[in-house]
Amino acid sequence: MRQVDYIIRGDYLLTMEGDLSVIKDGAVAVTGSDIVAAGTFADISEKYSSQKILDGKNKVVFPGLINTHTHAAMVYFRGLADDLPLQEWLQDHIWPAEGKWLSEAFVGDAVELACMEMLKAGVTTYSDMYFFQNTAGEKLEKIGMRGVLGAGIIDFPFTGYAKSVDDYFINAENLINNWKDSELVFPCVAPHATYTCGPDNYKKANALSEKYNVPIHTHLAETRFEVAECQKRYGKTPVEYFESIGLLSERLSAAHCVWLTDNEISLLAKRKAGVTHCIESNLKLASGFAPVAAMLKAGIKVAFGTDGAASNNDLSILGEMSTAAKVHKAVSMDPTVVDSKTTLLMATKNGADLLMLGDKIGSIKAGKKADLVIANLQQPHLMPLYDIYSHITYCMRPSDIETVMVNGKVVIENGKPATMDEAEVIAKAVAWQKKIKAS
Ligand SMILES: [Zn+2]
Repeated sequence: MRQVDYIIRGDYLLTMEGDLSVIKDGAVAVTGSDIVAAGTFADISEKYSSQKILDGKNKVVFPGLINTHTHAAMVYFRGLADDLPLQEWLQDHIWPAEGKWLSEAFVGDAVELACMEMLKAGVTTYSDMYFFQNTAGEKLEKIGMRGVLGAGIIDFPFTGYAKSVDDYFINAENLINNWKDSELVFPCVAPHATYTCGPDNYKKANALSEKYNVPIHTHLAETRFEVAECQKRYGKTPVEYFESIGLLSERLSAAHCVWLTDNEISLLAKRKAGVTHCIESNLKLASGFAPVAAMLKAGIKVAFGTDGAASNNDLSILGEMSTAAKVHKAVSMDPTVVDSKTTLLMATKNGADLLMLGDKIGSIKAGKKADLVIANLQQPHLMPLYDIYSHITYCMRPSDIETVMVNGKVVIENGKPATMDEAEVIAKAVAWQKKIKAS
């Protein structure tokens, strides 16, 4: 009998490995930060014992959800400007607000709120594009959440963060060096978009990503405006332009990819680039419908992102799963596409692979990190239960998430943050709201 730190039991265990079969009365043995074994409770309890057995009656255990595209600190701009097209929303509202408010203090406080919202909704890892990521990294280590933090890069200086364009690259390289040994924080490079970042800066960002073998995270082919602008500037559509400057690779994490030609889908697949689908942001900004079914069919790693809370307006991956599963059926006039197993795969394993963390997270398997979610199934909207995958995609709500573990540590217990003071985080958000509103 081997002693382990935790045995986590569930009436249903979804490992997201192999043929995705459901393990009834399953259990996961965890020691330190690692998953030691997963299987039926009968098998696990024969080989392992623990002082801490998390009871699994009426519960489902699955891998932590992964949000592969967001701007976490933008939670403080949630609901600041709604019902506008992307360019007007960015240029007239978001960029001026960011210009006025962005600072280390803003990012530090806002990231706490974002992490609390995501963890309570079962999101254990998020991939971010923003500024002041060292501050965000310190918060993640304190809270115990996993993050892939992308140092933002644009073609123009930004007061308080980058006096010159070179500073973006210096900041990015410093971020990479600062966090290279962290278990929770994975730094990366994040040039913003083809309309804010020229080819030279994209190539420099890509060289940095190659040098350190970290992801390069960018927005790509989000709107028709962007495609037209790209064609005007470079005579090519966005993905073809990326191919021409050597940006397409396994390290590329491209958010949106709404407007793609068939050739661009083939290029993304051939170069093994990853795509983040942000259905709710695309719907809200009326950006269009990404060809998700076609991308999945082509073998592209497609994962889910919420984008920032200012364009969603929440950070719930469960919400993205439900919306995407329904919208793509209607768009393709085919109710068999983006089924519930596929959505959970996209939200877990695909996300981990896209972030180059597939050996660490994304599924429940011996040797991987213990990033797990336990949800309570004793809810009217989850009764009766014939298919657990269906319930997670179509019916589950963030409030059903009871326990969340990241890297072997419980960070949400009975729905409450275990490593954050909820009242304090909310009080800070209210204080910032008052300041921002007054201006
Ligand atoms: Zn974005």
